[in-house]
Amino acid sequence: MAANPARKREVKSTTCYMCACRCGINVTVEDGEVRFIQGNPAHPINQGVLCAKGASGIMKQYSPARLTRPLRRKAGAERGNSEFEEISWEQAFSAIGERLQHIRDTDPKKFALYTGRDQMQALTGLFAKQFGTPNYAAHGGFCSVNMAAGLIYPSAALSGSSADPTSNVHACSSCSAPPKTIIRIR
Ligand code: SF4
Repeated sequence: MAANPARKREVKSTTCYMCACRCGINVTVEDGEVRFIQGNPAHPINQGVLCAKGASGIMKQYSPARLTRPLRRKAGAERGNSEFEEISWEQAFSAIGERLQHIRDTDPKKFALYTGRDQMQALTGLFAKQFGTPNYAAHGGFCSVNMAAGLIYPSAALSGSSADPTSNVHACSSCSAPPKTIIRIR
């Protein structure tokens, strides 16, 4: 991509956060705005390999579909019809608090708590136990723990070392199943 000389262009080296492999990436930034993401050839794990999910990490920052405010289903709307209205954070916390209070007062085990990759899974478990439910889970139990057990880390370490550029296969048990092929781009 041709650089715009009027804009300040920098390349920041970091690690991809789109899955647990943590491949090395080079992020091209112009005037503080991410322009595109590439695999980092100097990184010992992925050696320049970047999968489609990693490249699309830019959309976590700029996707127009990204949620930025709480949404509530409109009164009378059917579940699944995608009819929502924006509400304030105060309204959202109040509505959630009322519902949780009712569940806790009646049967706390009806509350099932699932969190994504928030890196706060110890707090999630603590909250659920204090609430009174054994029903809690987080991303790790569905993805990264199984991934580690399935030896993805050794396979990630091998990626980039094969003569066949399509043979570097990462096998994630859930979020990326079936196993995805990582294409070498250098
Ligand atoms: S395998 Fe893909 S999504 Fe996962 S860290 Fe590497 S580039 Fe990112």
